[in-house]
Amino acid sequence: MPRGVVIVGTGQGGYQTAASLRSEGFDGPVTLIGEEPHLPYQRPPLSKDFLLGKQHAHQLALRPSQFYTANRMELLAGERVKEIDLAAGQVRLASGSRLAFDHLVLATGARNRLLPVPGAELDGVCYLRTLDESVELRQRMEAASEIVVIGGGFIGLEAAAAARLLDKQVTVVEALPRLMARVTVPLISRFVMERHAARGVNFRCGAGIARITGEGSVTGVLLSDGAHLPADLVIVGIGVLPNVELAREAGLAAGNGIAVDEYLKTADPRVFAIGDCAEFPSRFTGSRVRLESVQNCVDQGICVARNIAGKAAPYAATPWFWSDQGDLHLQMAGLAPHIDESVVRGEPESGKFSVFHYFHGIMKAVDSINRPGDHVQARKLIALGATVSPEQAADESFDLKKAASGRIT
Ligand code: FAD
Repeated sequence: MPRGVVIVGTGQGGYQTAASLRSEGFDGPVTLIGEEPHLPYQRPPLSKDFLLGKQHAHQLALRPSQFYTANRMELLAGERVKEIDLAAGQVRLASGSRLAFDHLVLATGARNRLLPVPGAELDGVCYLRTLDESVELRQRMEAASEIVVIGGGFIGLEAAAAARLLDKQVTVVEALPRLMARVTVPLISRFVMERHAARGVNFRCGAGIARITGEGSVTGVLLSDGAHLPADLVIVGIGVLPNVELAREAGLAAGNGIAVDEYLKTADPRVFAIGDCAEFPSRFTGSRVRLESVQNCVDQGICVARNIAGKAAPYAATPWFWSDQGDLHLQMAGLAPHIDESVVRGEPESGKFSVFHYFHGIMKAVDSINRPGDHVQARKLIALGATVSPEQAADESFDLKKAASGRIT
């Protein structure tokens, strides 16, 4: 009797794998196991519309519960997988039962990196990864008056924008000298900071945290330079750690992510890993990467489903990402670990522009602010392995759409 596919993790990657198994014609048993007690849901709104109270929890569900029954999927929500027994081809659940698999897909995602300073355990120090955390944060934000956000990356800046829209006093503290330093160039960091500042967000960049102050509840944040920022709510957004322990304890290789090959397969040919927890060889960088984006977990889920359904192909999807911060719609296409030239298309003063990044004359990535058209064409060009010259990119009369359709080079 076929044991079918067991998917650990009911985030967007786990859900997509299950849905794509069926659409790719896989007919065997499919079991989804996730420790969160919810239907699979989308995370991006948790720091955007949902945090602002513009959406209800049921609107975040990727599919209603009938979808899983109609597609003969067993969804075990609120169940944690404790152990993978590769020799027996089984997983062991926290509730004690065991489930056998022919194929195992690890879509265990990532968890919040915890703030390693005294006072971080005080009431009023919050994180933002799960639906439950977003529900709690929304309530606390409404009640708060002074908010300190620790971390000037996407999550921190989205939360800061939401807090300003709720008319709260907000200060963002970033350890590095500029915002989003891991993912973008100084021009965009500066632009984004100025736009948030114009909306009333205060910034402390290049600032260390000495401790969170308060007794029982948070009263502020003490910086390493001695400054004290009063706060009745602290939001920590300092990145995530991939959930690799389950794989590692089963003897599968894992560093900054569960190690997989170009088919997203671990060293055990029955076991795949996808999404935020997986480290894979990227054709775009020539190196191993781990990405945290909806595009990546969705396309990797599709890729693994095809592989299991007997249509094996390496993972080759073009990476892209978005972040909404108030009236800033930031979109990124491609990956550029090394850049030796960046050119601007459009006028930053207008609030709508893109930055094209090059390495050795080849276009590697494009960051767009409020220019979705550039982003769409950039994705097409990058997917084709095509390039436009820096001069063409900077020239607004140059037709990117034609270039992306192969009609101009
Ligand atoms: P996850 O969503 O982390 O899901 C993994 C699931 O597995 C979790 O539910 C976890 O509890 C469960 N799990 C782990 N271990 C076990 C176990 N042993 N047993 C059972 N279950 C287990 N991306 C974008 O592209 N654009 C955005 O605007 C954007 N905004 C975001 C905003 C927020 C607030 C957050 C948190 C993320 C955002 N992202 C965004 C990132 C994107 O949501 C993630 O990259 C994506 O959800 C990753 O999906 P995943 O399935 O790989 O992992």
